[in-house]
Amino acid sequence: MTIAEEAPARGPAGSGDGPAIETEGLVKLFGATRAVDGVDLVIPRGGVHGFLGPNGAGKTTTIRVLLGLVSADAGGGEIRLLDHPVPAALPEVIGSVGALVETPLFFPGFTGRLNLQLLAEAAGLPRTRVDECLELVDLTDRAEDRFKGYSLGMKQRLGIAAALLKQPRLLILDEPSNGLDPAGIRDVRELIRRLGRDGRTTVLLSSHLLAEIQQVCDS
Ligand code: ATP
Repeated sequence: MTIAEEAPARGPAGSGDGPAIETEGLVKLFGATRAVDGVDLVIPRGGVHGFLGPNGAGKTTTIRVLLGLVSADAGGGEIRLLDHPVPAALPEVIGSVGALVETPLFFPGFTGRLNLQLLAEAAGLPRTRVDECLELVDLTDRAEDRFKGYSLGMKQRLGIAAALLKQPRLLILDEPSNGLDPAGIRDVRELIRRLGRDGRTTVLLSSHLLAEIQQVCDS
């Protein structure tokens, strides 16, 4: 099954038609470090959008603020995700947002499938969704292998599968090709391109590699 064939997400986060992400004047300080300094973003719905900057530019911090993992500074700007003000309406919108930020944590001794099943059960999702996501990231054949035996690329793809479980309207991927070999990079880039083509998911791809953004992104 391709993403395009899946049922649309339910709930208010899927119903608006404003930008997928909108920020105005976003500011985040760590002591004297201005990690994020007045960032204005408008990410339209659909497609793959690059978030490009050198190491230390503040990409991860911006994403962590978007996801409510850290707070912006007081008076440090405004955020809307899928037409919802964040962090105020985070509980309503977060069910429509999938993310891969830094290295995902899985149980090393459990299989890829069992790891996803546990996440699906915790989120009240049917087991069939696990199979769909394994298929989407091309891990069906390795689903019964233990996570600790996976290559880095497979671990990243399982992380993307976990982010896809809830059929997100918005998928945020923070440097998903970091540390991968050329074959792993190719697989992850192809997967992101496929996700972007489905029309229902907006992908924000953070990277410090201009070539990656050029190859994969619509904007
Ligand atoms: P990279 O591509 O290397 O991941 P990045 O663009 O994602 O970089 P950030 O990780 O957001 O950049 O870091 C931006 C700045 O904020 C850096 O100077 C970093 O050292 C600093 N920083 C990030 N997180 C913290 C933290 N928890 N405490 C203190 N400083 C931090």
